[in-house]
Amino acid sequence: MIYQRSSQLFAEAEKVIPGGVNSPVRAFKGVGGTPIFAKSAKGAYLYDEDDNRYIDYINSWGPMILGHAFPPVVEAIIEKAKKGTSFGMPTELETKIAELAVSMVPNIDKIRFVNSGTEACMSAIRLARGFTKRDKIIKFAGCYHGHSDSFLIQAGSGASTFGTPNSPGVTQGTAKDTLLASFNDLDNVKALFEANQNEIAAIIVEPVAGNMGCVPPTVGFLQSLRELCDANNTLLIFDEVMTGFRLAKGGVQELFNVRADIVCYGKVIGGGLPVGAFAAREEIMNYLSPLGPVYQAGTLSGNPLAMAAGFAMLKTLNEDATIFKRLEEKTTYLHKGIEKVLLANNIVFTINRVGSMISVHFDANPVIDFHTAKNGDNETFKKFFHGLLKEGVYIAPSAYETWFITDALTYEDLDFTIKAIDKVSKSL
Ligand SMILES: *Cc1c(COP(=O)(O)O)cnc(C)c1O
Repeated sequence: MIYQRSSQLFAEAEKVIPGGVNSPVRAFKGVGGTPIFAKSAKGAYLYDEDDNRYIDYINSWGPMILGHAFPPVVEAIIEKAKKGTSFGMPTELETKIAELAVSMVPNIDKIRFVNSGTEACMSAIRLARGFTKRDKIIKFAGCYHGHSDSFLIQAGSGASTFGTPNSPGVTQGTAKDTLLASFNDLDNVKALFEANQNEIAAIIVEPVAGNMGCVPPTVGFLQSLRELCDANNTLLIFDEVMTGFRLAKGGVQELFNVRADIVCYGKVIGGGLPVGAFAAREEIMNYLSPLGPVYQAGTLSGNPLAMAAGFAMLKTLNEDATIFKRLEEKTTYLHKGIEKVLLANNIVFTINRVGSMISVHFDANPVIDFHTAKNGDNETFKKFFHGLLKEGVYIAPSAYETWFITDALTYEDLDFTIKAIDKVSKSL
């Protein structure tokens, strides 16, 4: 493949945009090489500026669950745009998408729309802190909740201690209120509750983790978090920015039958436009401004184009009785196919999968948390990534990312992908 135009465009971008990108993972730092520049996409396929075609397993990091340029979404945006692109006033469509979301998701009465997953999670913990009148939160290492200060925290010295900032610019003062636990490690969470009695406002968790590869919760983990939260008057926040409207209509709450107090959304809910949302039962949501004391706002929140895209997306998902089953079947087919060719080529690997989220780790041991996710062989991953790119298969340019399966993928596309993986595996 030729990447000439992408290389040129990247060189130009680097002069005026830090690292040439508006979000770091796009820069290919995890895999080396020059990022490819997207030109267009349709269905399961992505085309770059050199007119190379790829089968896309990133899908804008999740939103394009029905494929790129999905006609009902595109048409909804075009029709709305003709009538004005922003008013800064309430619109009927905001109520319609809110009603639809509330009807699809269990345990929520009200929802507020924001512009990104980051904003959703940031607002959710502010609301949880205001509601409980407590300051501390527990987050899990390897779970990503966007780039707001409270979440850019890494483990301090020793387990069960306060976190320390993992980016300059995040203050120690902020870091001290974020307690870090290990995903799937209940004892760790219990110890944090014991050491911080009546101080923990919320646990925030990716209920199926997707930002250290796909890492499912162990049996009973989410239910136990629920019980610990109840026992300690702490709110349980499910960050379903990745899993919401992807793993089931009602997300992980429905799939694992565990109730969260606040749920965060993003990605699929915006149909490819910048949308996030957070939702909860009435008592909690009424704590939000203008009804309650917790402030949260947004000039472009509920933007008509974004709501039109999101509404068309959710409506389609809601009306398609077999969509999540189809997605799961396609992903299982891919899972089995990859497993078969990697085994045949004597590659050491672990595959994690939940519904239409899947990740391949180059390590023999189970991947259950951030620590085990980091054990994967990154050199092998880099070769795997670049090999697949050459074959016309685009997976995330980082060993810590999940692949997102879209309904636009045909079984032919999946076979093409498995064949490409077979070929690339022989050179690993
Ligand atoms: C992507 C993601 C976010 C952040 O969403 P942005 O729209 O990128 O701000 C938060 N939480 C999870 C689980 C995510 O996957």
